[in-house]
Amino acid sequence: MINIISDTVTTPTPGMLDAMMSAQVGDDVFKQDPSINALQEKAAAMFGKEAGLFCPSGTMTNQIAINVHTDRLDEMICHKYSHVYQYETGGYGFNSGIAVNLLDGPHGKITADQVAAAIKPVYDWLPISKLVVLENTNNKGGGSYYRLDEIKPITDLCKERGLRLHLDGARIFNALAETGESTLDVGNHFDTVSICLSKGLGAPVGSLLLGPADFIAKARRVRKVMGGGMRQAGFLAAAGLYALENNVDRLKEDHEHARIIEAKLKSLPYIENVRPVQTNLIIFDVKPPLTSDVYIAKLKEHNINAAAYGPQTMRFVTHLDFSRAMLDKLLVTLDNMRF
Ligand SMILES: *Cc1c(COP(=O)(O)O)cnc(C)c1O
Repeated sequence: MINIISDTVTTPTPGMLDAMMSAQVGDDVFKQDPSINALQEKAAAMFGKEAGLFCPSGTMTNQIAINVHTDRLDEMICHKYSHVYQYETGGYGFNSGIAVNLLDGPHGKITADQVAAAIKPVYDWLPISKLVVLENTNNKGGGSYYRLDEIKPITDLCKERGLRLHLDGARIFNALAETGESTLDVGNHFDTVSICLSKGLGAPVGSLLLGPADFIAKARRVRKVMGGGMRQAGFLAAAGLYALENNVDRLKEDHEHARIIEAKLKSLPYIENVRPVQTNLIIFDVKPPLTSDVYIAKLKEHNINAAAYGPQTMRFVTHLDFSRAMLDKLLVTLDNMRF
């Protein structure tokens, strides 16, 4: 089976499994798991932050960050396509009692001018603008990425106006594979950073929240109240360490595969358009009367598992477990399909 519904579908490779099975573990609620401690320290150092916190998911790292950065009756400013708004079950309201101030812009990206215009004056009847969240790469924005020179004006604005800036970096390594910029420079531009190990990096579970030591100390308490305090989770952290050491440099391959698929899709008569492919996400529309549902069912007949993004919109995702041989099979299948 070829599974391109997401880059979360990867399963541990033999090398990763070995690392997991030989992990040293302890009780992480007492900070006694050496593998988790090592992962947190390594990731924090990579991004130039004082401390890190290992969590079960990127939703949890984002939600903890939002919770620690804000008070009730504050608001967060983000793109309307943001994961923190779209796909975290409204957690900003449920967990933190804050409002959201949504911006628009091409490919899921926002600018400093937009943020400046969105910051609210302080009145009793308005929420207080407290936090800006950027996503890099942008998921619903089709895998687009920011370069640091686009982020810098937002960083400067947040500093000047006393707002916090959080990075939802679920796929930050995909962005860096294209820009060639460093993790240290990324860390410099944000108060806090969330990274996912379970997307393109191929770990089965896990995300990290990185930031100042006092921030992470508060974040640990919030993680606990959310039920995210794990015990011998070093088996999972070992997979994360392995992923950071072995699976970052190869992300370029996923991007190359995605661009080859983009070129193929553009040549097909039943495809309406393909969003510009920038990393490992390929978002495109099928031509009516063809619908996503019919297209997905047809792909399934060829053992290809893909997902809809709308009635006419599809998303393919390349990843560690999508091999060159699978790419070749996909291309032939796409060519031979008729509607
Ligand atoms: C996947 C993802 C997350 C975190 O998702 P979890 O499934 O909770 O780990 C956060 N932000 C973005 C942009 C994502 O794509």
